[in-house]
Order: sequence, then structure tokens, then C-alpha cells
Amino acid sequence: MSKTSSSPSHQMASNHQDHFESPDYYQLDDLLSEEHLMIRASIRDFVKKEITPFIEVWAEKNHFPNEIVSKFGMIGAFGPTFPLQYGGGGLDYISYGLIMQEIERGDSGMRSTASVQGSLVMYPIYTYGSEEQKQKFLPKLASGEMLGCFGLTEPNHGSNPSGMETSFEDKGDHYLLNGAKMWISNAPHADIAVRLGKR
Ligand SMILES: Cc1cc2nc3c(=O)[nH]c(=O)nc-3n(C[C@H](O)[C@H](O)[C@H](O)COP(=O)(O)OP(=O)(O)OC[C@H]3O[C@@H](n4cnc5c(N)ncnc54)[C@H](O)[C@@H]3O)c2cc1C
Repeated sequence: MSKTSSSPSHQMASNHQDHFESPDYYQLDDLLSEEHLMIRASIRDFVKKEITPFIEVWAEKNHFPNEIVSKFGMIGAFGPTFPLQYGGGGLDYISYGLIMQEIERGDSGMRSTASVQGSLVMYPIYTYGSEEQKQKFLPKLASGEMLGCFGLTEPNHGSNPSGMETSFEDKGDHYLLNGAKMWISNAPHADIAVRLGKR
């Protein structure tokens, strides 16, 4: 029986044990630095303890483990490439890829939760947001205090932005957003939504 904590999600018992060891037939690990290997090993360890023993039960019970959000924050899985001043890890993109690869091995949905937060929520705020928005949202998103989602896809046009119907209007002291989105990862649990809309 694998039980690593007494959180509600982990009380959903599982007999699954994860003995994964990655064979390196093409010696690709030689291309990685000591730091990369250390990062990968620590995330692999996390996935073995916190995700793979439970994921099948969570999927069967249609359960989203809310505690995973702060745990991802703790291990630096949210926006690891962002500067330290915004709560990021200041790591390179190889590190980011390795972190996502390990989480993806555990479960694709869990990886979506992490990569949507970093690449689709934090990145637009970091790149296009005001300094005030960056300071307000990025550290909380990096730590997992906040969860975000990103909405491009629509019922009538899928993820084709040129067909997008969602629009926004500048009302002076606020924006009015009108439209519908679908298939938005993290949406049911998110505190902040980055939405695409046309003028
Ligand atoms: C689990 C999950 C999570 C998601 N999370 C998000 C999210 O967080 N935010 C968000 O905005 N969206 C999200 N999406 C939506 C996702 O990004 C889109 O569904 C995806 O990009 C495909 O776009 P589409 O639905 O417009 O399909 P299309 O691009 O229209 O594709 C439909 C089918 O047509 C085929 N096709 C497309 N173009 C051509 C062509 N030119 N020639 C031949 N065949 C073609 C494709 O291969 C496919 O089989 C999510 C989807 C899933 C399944």
C-alpha cells in the first residue's frame, strides 16, 4: 500500500507502486549537466510518491487533487524559468522540459495543470502584463497559492484564433468580455483566467 500523506486525495488508497527506471540506450543523459540530472531525479521521486500511486483511483473517481497545486509550487514546477524576483526558479528551458517530461510520465493531466500554469498563464502575464500585474500574480502562481487557466478554444471554432468570436470592450475602468470557451484545463479550479478575445 502506498500512502505518503494523509491528505484527502491520498486517503484514496492505491496498491500501485511505481518502479520506473529510465533506460538510457542512446546515452542522452551525457548531454545533461549535473544540475539537470539532479532536477530530473527529484521530480521523478516526487511523481513516484505523489502521483503514480494514486492517479488511477483519482481518474476513476473523477477527482482533482487540489493539494497537488501547492505541492507543484513547492517543487518549483510552476514557471521554473521565470526570474527569482517573480517567484520563479531562474532555470533554463532544458530543466523546464525535464520537469514536464517527468510529470507527464506520471499523468498527462497533471502535466497540463503544471504547464498551463507556467507557459499559458504566467508567460503571458510576464511578457505582456504591467509591472503591477507581474508582482501581483506571478509569485502567487509560482508558489501554487493561485491556480490559473488559459482560454483560447471555442465551441464554434476550436483553437483557430482567426475564427474566434469572444470579444472584449474597453469600458474605461474595466473591460467587458463576451463569449464562450471550452476544454479549458484547470478552469473548474482556477483563481485567475487568461482569456483570448478580439476587439
Ligand atoms: C485535454 C485537453 C485540454 C485542453 N486544454 C485547453 C486549454 O487549457 N486551453 C485552450 O484554449 N484549449 C484547450 N484544449 C483545446 C485544444 O487546444 C484543441 O482542442 C486543439 O488545439 C485542437 O484544436 P481544434 O479543437 O480546433 O481541432 P482542429 O484543429 O479543428 O482539428 C480537428 C481534426 O481535424 C484535423 N485537421 C485540422 N486541420 C486540418 C487540415 N488542415 N487538414 C487535415 N486535417 C486537419 C485534426 O488533425 C483533427 O483530427 C484542450 C483540449 C484537450 C483535449
